[in-house]
Amino acid sequence: MTLPRVYRVALDMPLRRLFDYLTPVAADANSPAEAARGEDAAAQAIEPGMRVLVPFGRQRLVGLVVAAAASSDLPLERLKPILAVLDERPLIDAGALALLEWAADYYLHPIGEVLAAALPKSLRLGASAVDTLEQWGLTPEGREAQARGEPRRAPKQRQLLAYLAARDTVTADELTADIPNWGDAARALKARGWVTAAKIPSIEPPAPTGATGEAPELAPEQRTAVQAVSEEIGKFGAFVLHGVTGSGKTEVYLRLVEQVLRQGRSALVLVPEIGLTPQLVGRFRERFADPLCVLHSALTDHERLQAWRSAYSGHARIVIGTRSAVFAPVPNLGLIIVDEEHDASFKQHEGGFRYSARDLAVVRAQRSNVPILLGSATPALETLHNVENGRYTRLTLPRRVEQAAAPRIALIDLRNHAVQAGISTPAVQAMQRHLGEEGQVLVFLNRRGYAPTLLCTACGWISPCRDCDARMTVHLSANRLRCHHCGADEPLPVRCPQCGFAVKPVGQGTERIEEALEKMFPGVALVRLDRDVVRRRGDMESAMKRMSSGEARILVGTQMVTKGHDFPNVTLVVVLNADQGLFSSDFRSPERLAQTLVQVAGRAGRGTRAGEVLVQTEFPGHPLLLSLLAEGYDGFARTALLERQQASWPPFSRLAAVRTSAKAADAALGFLTDARKLARLPRNVKLLGPVPAAMSKRAGRYHAQLLIESPERTALHRFLDGWLPLIEPLPSARRVRWALDVDPIELF
Ligand SMILES: [Zn+2]
Ligand SMILES: [Zn+2]
Repeated sequence: MTLPRVYRVALDMPLRRLFDYLTPVAADANSPAEAARGEDAAAQAIEPGMRVLVPFGRQRLVGLVVAAAASSDLPLERLKPILAVLDERPLIDAGALALLEWAADYYLHPIGEVLAAALPKSLRLGASAVDTLEQWGLTPEGREAQARGEPRRAPKQRQLLAYLAARDTVTADELTADIPNWGDAARALKARGWVTAAKIPSIEPPAPTGATGEAPELAPEQRTAVQAVSEEIGKFGAFVLHGVTGSGKTEVYLRLVEQVLRQGRSALVLVPEIGLTPQLVGRFRERFADPLCVLHSALTDHERLQAWRSAYSGHARIVIGTRSAVFAPVPNLGLIIVDEEHDASFKQHEGGFRYSARDLAVVRAQRSNVPILLGSATPALETLHNVENGRYTRLTLPRRVEQAAAPRIALIDLRNHAVQAGISTPAVQAMQRHLGEEGQVLVFLNRRGYAPTLLCTACGWISPCRDCDARMTVHLSANRLRCHHCGADEPLPVRCPQCGFAVKPVGQGTERIEEALEKMFPGVALVRLDRDVVRRRGDMESAMKRMSSGEARILVGTQMVTKGHDFPNVTLVVVLNADQGLFSSDFRSPERLAQTLVQVAGRAGRGTRAGEVLVQTEFPGHPLLLSLLAEGYDGFARTALLERQQASWPPFSRLAAVRTSAKAADAALGFLTDARKLARLPRNVKLLGPVPAAMSKRAGRYHAQLLIESPERTALHRFLDGWLPLIEPLPSARRVRWALDVDPIELF
């Protein structure tokens, strides 16, 4: 057998190619024969998915081996050998590697950057993938020196000695947490023989117990769903768990994960935002005694590495995480669950590598031969379309577990009723009634801050943002004007900066609604939930506790309240403004509005109490609102899919967008105009644009986009494959930041 001599390595750089390297040279080879033997040994140890250290120009870079080959396109004598192999076994297993290669191809993004996106930063920089502990301690000499107060001239070393003297041994990780940049001091002390360092293997993971907490009885529909998916364990199958809020989707997840664990396999669970879904993670923790690995964006680099390692080692067999966790190592994967699959946060729409974690999860399930379950009360239209064409199987949980009747939904015509601070008289009356009957009330407004604008009635000045085509929002309690698009933040002016006349806040945000409700309902405790009040981990939980304990009776919140929380005593939901999103140029905005309304409405009437939902609107005759009211989400989805079909929007066509931004107003469009000229379009591919973004200026940069549309994915990709290399070297490309977004979900 001839061993591969060439390794194809991905490097984290924006180049659409791999780099070939040779087998490492044995360090202590004295003769060619020995070198060859060393080569063989080293070659055997290198597998795709492992990290290697390679020379690149004058640098040494950490790369990932994607494949081994017998030969290279380049003459072998021009290739350099790998300097070191960093892993004992692949960091990325064959299934995940295939997924990443697929993603690079599908999203037309350089493979090196795709692989980099899949790994925690520390691993990209070469940190060990397995837990070994570096343990530091004092020598007897060190203890004496510390007692003498030495070394007098090196405060950092002295601090470190004192720290070590107070403990038996500490790990490097603990040191890093307590004494930043301790490395130099430690080395100096070690050189003097005052401290010792030893590498010890970290404790072997305990054998999983498979123990589970108490589980409730399943409703018949839940049982059917569990059974349908468990029959597919061991092979690929895509399922949509379409369950109304409160119908017990989480219990279905838990039962399936339990089965997977019992078979000795692991489960991957993707959620939109961990901070907003503490209940789901909590349910998993309660049910399973085995450790969980939780991966999300609020982790520090170190926490992320630790979480990643616990998944990689197989210590944690349940991996729960947000978007990028779709790339997490899950040895012996048995099942993937995507909760709230319709949520926009599964789409990475910033930076270079823009992917849909939900869509990649389906591909991963397929490549790994495991079932995938996509759960939602409001599945994405694309997902429902996949049900229609037979690609996905729909499992429905039509009833709430506690048998409460579905909430009654009614519209309030804002044109016919008196409105005070954004709240209509019928809404106030309904609130009085529900509060009087010991119910709780949720008031929904998807706009944080006090008021969306500050207006001068004398000259018409309306708090413009200097860097965006947008108004700055009034934050009264903070006494600031803030731009919600770029984060600009300035003191709230008392007088008009233009003419000196008095200014007044116009419109409502959650902060102002809170103020108004406090006046209308004195003595009734109120909780507000939005990004201004929920800043740290735990803020969410404490707000929810105030509601669940019954201490607070009114909840005012933004989108945040629609994400997976239970408020069992909420009997009335008031939607203050349904009209944002009724008229938008983005073909997806009706879908988003319908999802929001259904999700908010789902908070009403849990337990045994039926709920009431009131939606304030100026357009009570709008077809979207009417279809939602008459036929619910399914009816809406049917109508909306039909409209998409007629207009040839996704899922009835495929879209990609080239997005640009530039400091100069004409540059963003300029590059796209040049790019368009280089397009040789096949018959079934169309270009739309370029156009400036609806909000062209954001954070001081001008934005534009060019859409590429085709009824066929392969045609679209073939076109992009040929076109991208032509536009990349355009001189006008250097004046912009640009990115390709395949399957964009937000158009502007
Ligand atoms: Zn003015
Ligand atoms: Zn701004």
